[in-house]
Amino acid sequence: MTTPYRHEPFTDFSVKENQAAFEKALKTVNKEWLGKEYPLVINGERITTEDKIVSYNPAKKDEVVGTVSKATKELAEKAVNAAAEAFKTWRYTSPEGRANILFRAAAIVRRQKHEFSALLVKEAGKPWKEADADTAEAIDFMEYYARQMIDMAKGKPIESRDGEYNQYIYTPTGVTVSIPPWNFLFAIMAGITVAPLVTGNTVVLKPASATPVIAARFVEVLEEAGVPNGVINFVPGSGAEVGDTLVDHPETSIITFTGSREVGTRIFQRAAVVQPGQQHLKQVIAEMGGKDTVVVDKDGDVELAAQSIFASAFGFAGQKCSAGSRAVVHADVYDEVLNRVIEITEAQTTGNPEKHSTYMGPVIDAASYEKIMGYIEIGKEEGRLVSGGTGDDSKGFFIQPTIFADADPQSRIMQEEIFGPVLAFSKVSSFDEALEVANNTEYGLTGAVITNNRAHIDRAKHEFHVGNLYFNRNCTGAIVGYHPFGGFKMSGTDSKAGGPDYLALHMNAKTVSETY
Ligand code: NAP
Repeated sequence: MTTPYRHEPFTDFSVKENQAAFEKALKTVNKEWLGKEYPLVINGERITTEDKIVSYNPAKKDEVVGTVSKATKELAEKAVNAAAEAFKTWRYTSPEGRANILFRAAAIVRRQKHEFSALLVKEAGKPWKEADADTAEAIDFMEYYARQMIDMAKGKPIESRDGEYNQYIYTPTGVTVSIPPWNFLFAIMAGITVAPLVTGNTVVLKPASATPVIAARFVEVLEEAGVPNGVINFVPGSGAEVGDTLVDHPETSIITFTGSREVGTRIFQRAAVVQPGQQHLKQVIAEMGGKDTVVVDKDGDVELAAQSIFASAFGFAGQKCSAGSRAVVHADVYDEVLNRVIEITEAQTTGNPEKHSTYMGPVIDAASYEKIMGYIEIGKEEGRLVSGGTGDDSKGFFIQPTIFADADPQSRIMQEEIFGPVLAFSKVSSFDEALEVANNTEYGLTGAVITNNRAHIDRAKHEFHVGNLYFNRNCTGAIVGYHPFGGFKMSGTDSKAGGPDYLALHMNAKTVSETY
């Protein structure tokens, strides 16, 4: 019997001992984890290539976090073939045995929890709190999916008639190509790797090129926990170079992707093409971008609204698909809310994420920095710059949290995913108009409504079209098992990671009818 699922508690860094423990972990990671080289792993074999991907610390752009070997198309193909071979036996292993591997992997991570989080501080520039939450979510995915698999192994109840015994059971699907983004470099990478594994599929993991080191370390954890050779294969490589090879391979059965709309739609389209020798239709789980809104109603609590908008927009420098980069505020409270958000924002520190006092660290790399600074220029044309607007990429990729007021709902800064610390405010004169603006993008991922009006809560439940809708809080921070996560429209296939239906997406349901 397993204990009931509970999400991994977040570390309280106001406690001195916890602060000291995290400082110590940062030192350990600096001394012992940084600068290492990691090979590809195909069928358990370590393969080192000439070509490398170097992972740099975005807060200190000369600091090398680690180096990984880089796969070629041939090696990517070899990895899928190895996974196809391993599937022949892994698919018949017991679900409980597979679940136990996840429990062990969670325990291994938990034992070095702060070290893993410290690595996230280094590799993605996450402030302590964000890094701690990312590691906790990775643990949660393992704990939650392991329990769910044990439950799913029983099948689902269906009816049987006299003289007949009917069963509805789940069987594994095949080779899964897992393609994560860099922003939840531990949690999403781990989640889209362990879900296919625990359901009896084999995996080829292609990490995001900006953050391959955490993925290399996690593959080591999975091996230590007992995942056999060929069941997990690790092929870092440029998505543009090896992505198509992995997606197109006739032995690939599932592609589980989280990333941009552009890449997600490309994968969706390519996966639909049946390749020579392919004997199945491919399943695509695609979780893509967002342009998420916090709506403030005229009777909403102003302080709560301001805190919610601030946290939604600027947590991890706005680099979350769930980031609330749009505040749609009723005219009656608009000035008050805007001024308070500016006040809260300007009281926070942007800088070195290794310091406990830092609220916001850098953005991920030079390309992101340029893109976000470009949007700030667009914003200056489209709205009224009321806070921030500057950047400094001399040592790391730092951008001040930036706020634009009075943006037109159809302007680019209100429509396009910026994926950085840029927040736009739009003023509305009714709740009807607020909902209309909230729904006016092609995305449908998260949203929040700050209101004390019960009728408006009921309306928003039906009329605000997002996968994750929150009331009287921020629109980020979904927790595995509590807030299953995923979006509508161009935000993806609404797979609801960390939810009760997620594992079934990796399996084929089979009806077995026995006559006696
Ligand atoms: P991205 O550029 O789309 O990259 C995501 C992954 O796809 C990376 O591993 C990337 O590899 C790979 N890739 C690139 N081109 C490919 C191709 N042609 N075929 C196959 N794979 C390819 O996204 P990102 O910048 O890492 O992440 C940010 C985006 O993710 C944002 O849009 C954000 O909203 C979204 N996101 C969504 C969710 C959600 O749950 N809905 C959660 C988190 C993030 P390389 O790194 O080698 O290019």
